[in-house]
Amino acid sequence: MMWKPALRLLPLLLLPLPLLLTERVAELSSAHRLFLGTLPWLVGLIVIMLSLGFKQSRALLTTLHLGAVAGLFEVTSSAPLDNPASYILLIALGLCWPLMLGWLTLLPERRTLSRAGLLRIAILLAPYAALALLWHYHPMQLVHLLPLLPLPFIDQLYAQLTISPFVFWWQLGGICILTTLSLLLHNRDVLLNITLSLCVLLALTDTTSAVHGQLYHLLGQLVLLTAVVRHGYDMAFVDTLTGIPGRRALEHHLISPGRGYSIAMLDIDHFKQFNDRYGHDIGDQVLRMVASQLRHVGAGGRLFRYGGEEFTIVFRRGSEDSVNKALEAVRERVAQYPMQIRGTNRPKHDDTGQALRKKGNNGEAVKVTISIGFATQANGEPAEAVIKQADQALYAAKRGGRNCTRSAQQNTPHKKRRSLSDFARNQAD
Ligand code: GH3
Ligand code: MG
Ligand code: MG
Repeated sequence: MMWKPALRLLPLLLLPLPLLLTERVAELSSAHRLFLGTLPWLVGLIVIMLSLGFKQSRALLTTLHLGAVAGLFEVTSSAPLDNPASYILLIALGLCWPLMLGWLTLLPERRTLSRAGLLRIAILLAPYAALALLWHYHPMQLVHLLPLLPLPFIDQLYAQLTISPFVFWWQLGGICILTTLSLLLHNRDVLLNITLSLCVLLALTDTTSAVHGQLYHLLGQLVLLTAVVRHGYDMAFVDTLTGIPGRRALEHHLISPGRGYSIAMLDIDHFKQFNDRYGHDIGDQVLRMVASQLRHVGAGGRLFRYGGEEFTIVFRRGSEDSVNKALEAVRERVAQYPMQIRGTNRPKHDDTGQALRKKGNNGEAVKVTISIGFATQANGEPAEAVIKQADQALYAAKRGGRNCTRSAQQNTPHKKRRSLSDFARNQAD
């Protein structure tokens, strides 16, 4: 679906919005402005509660991190900025943010309310708390740092643009390094981190207006909220092993499937023997490979993991012939896939796997096949009945020798191919 990647880019497209709105918001009544100032903190609170509920410690830490920076930003921009202590504080915020965010990116998920989780929160907030205390109680200590800073830090101290060029480039460099790191680690929060970093960077470009900072804080917290909700959705509907929608998503999809739809049930042949011979990890690799091939199904089919080594594809509409063709194509695709057993460290990402294969990093080759049964709703029967018919067709495909597709309606073989997978053949040998 084309709109999904476009939707992921939406937060980046919203980044200029606070810049455009700052002046208008400054004209609002004080009550409205008070509400607007409270809003990011309310959203932040919701993010904290959701991330505790969904057990997303990194999201919780990121919200606290953003809140700490925004809080300090707010107090400094409400005080006169020609106070050198405020300026040093803003520079320190600009320097701290990418470092702490980089640290958060490297951290594995942990239980938040454990000793390690609480220690992380303390480490994250410690530099910001220290800065706040210094700024409030001993501003002169901060001011004494001023002559120690290299010239590029201070050359714009009283200029219009209140961020020093050094901090600007430091932040941009931080974004580049963070993005590379996230991509290398296959971290799914790449776009989130870029957006949040740009929010902080853009907020720092105008520290003279509290509203400007509040709007970027609000945008940052909203982006985090969407990310937490999306993670929660994935936890409920997406199968963690294969990355495709799971049984719950299928049930939801079948609440109102329309009329004349087809349901296909697909089952890996002799899968138990993969587990018995190579172990559960290799069995998992086979499941991931099959899922990645089935994603290519045509005729508008939607793929789900039904459970175990069974998959379901739902076709909203389409002739029996086109459904059969699409299913035959994926069946053939799986059978033709050059599956290599490379030990337990098979890459999770297909791109890395392809690169390894090109390098000739081959292990033992195994052949994986699937059997398919499908049924089309003809007389308005409920989805459960259609699934049952597809299951019976699948059973017929298994009895018919496996690695083939059968339709419940015709209940005649659709192009039966090789009758045995490698495993069955191995056994026969
Ligand atoms: P058939 O060709 O008749 O389908 O034979 P089969 O061996 O594939 O069927 P069977 O139902 O006997 O075996 C299914 C196996 O799938 C048993 C179970 O251990 C394994 N399995 C189910 N879920 C998972 C999983 O998530 N990972 C792994 N590795 N194995 C799984
Ligand atoms: Mg099965
Ligand atoms: Mg099976």
